[in-house]
Amino acid sequence: MLKPENIRNIAIIAHVDHGKTTLVDAMLKQSRIFRDNQQVHTRVLDSNDLERERGITILSKNTAIHYKGVKINIVDTPGHADFGGEVERVMNMVDGVLLLVDAVEGPMPQTKFVLRQAIERGHKVIVVVNKIDRPNAQPEEVINTTFDLFVDLGATDEQCEFPIIYASGLTGSSGYEPDQLTPSLEPLFEEIVHSLPSPDVEVDGPTQLQATLLGYDEYKGQIVIGRLQRGKVRKNQSLLLIQADETKRTIKIGQVFTHQGLQRQEIEEATAGDIIALTGISDVRIGDTITDPEYPEALPPIRIEEPTLRMT
Ligand code: GDP
Repeated sequence: MLKPENIRNIAIIAHVDHGKTTLVDAMLKQSRIFRDNQQVHTRVLDSNDLERERGITILSKNTAIHYKGVKINIVDTPGHADFGGEVERVMNMVDGVLLLVDAVEGPMPQTKFVLRQAIERGHKVIVVVNKIDRPNAQPEEVINTTFDLFVDLGATDEQCEFPIIYASGLTGSSGYEPDQLTPSLEPLFEEIVHSLPSPDVEVDGPTQLQATLLGYDEYKGQIVIGRLQRGKVRKNQSLLLIQADETKRTIKIGQVFTHQGLQRQEIEEATAGDIIALTGISDVRIGDTITDPEYPEALPPIRIEEPTLRMT
């Protein structure tokens, strides 16, 4: 059984082109989840524009990587502009963040919005100075600018003492000093596992999950995505849905999915801390809580912005 202490739910904040896709692909390959026959699509983490137009957030682009018995769920984050409060919601599901910064360009103003949300949420941030193989890399300057940005954004002293990993997603190498890289991403994995917290959830106790992101599948209908906050969720289980206006209705879960590599994987039962996708429930809204019928406790509501307020 997957225990919360063996889970890390993280988001990667990166300016476009700073190498998020390449790095995640390298992490997948090195964690051996990646299968040789599984085609790597470039830009695997990019959101589907069509879904975006419909105002639906899909989460099938998320990734789960296993490292030394720890499951690392990487939740996709829009790199800059917010979309319907999505950044804030993603930040509520994760417990730590990687800030990926190009070793030549340094942090870009466009990522400030997302980084601010992570900092305000109190998350610990690992700064990954990426593309360190570039000939004109300026790791010290980049760290200084990043530190200034943290101070600007009101980061706590603890957040300002961010761990730093130098990496090249392209060559799959990383290390604690810019000139002492190992040809592996192990230092990065170690840092994620050791300095980012596991989800603060209750394994035992009545089921509780907040619908944080919604997806839609042509065959399965609405898909509810969230971090299981307490208890378990089983396939075909009867639970209670509490909506924002406090109306309650009995629901029956269809299937339960988690992530495995780039794919969704159906499981019989999910345990607290994991990020899961549920099918079989309709008319769910963001912020609704799914609970044990005997313990109808709603989680605090989520602020939702209309997609029309989207900034670009
Ligand atoms: P994303 O937009 O953040 O997902 O960035 P991509 O992973 O698509 O990378 C953008 C560009 O940077 C591509 O041309 C990559 O080949 C290149 N790139 C990615 N990682 C590295 C790296 O570690 N070193 C160098 N030199 N180039 C990289």
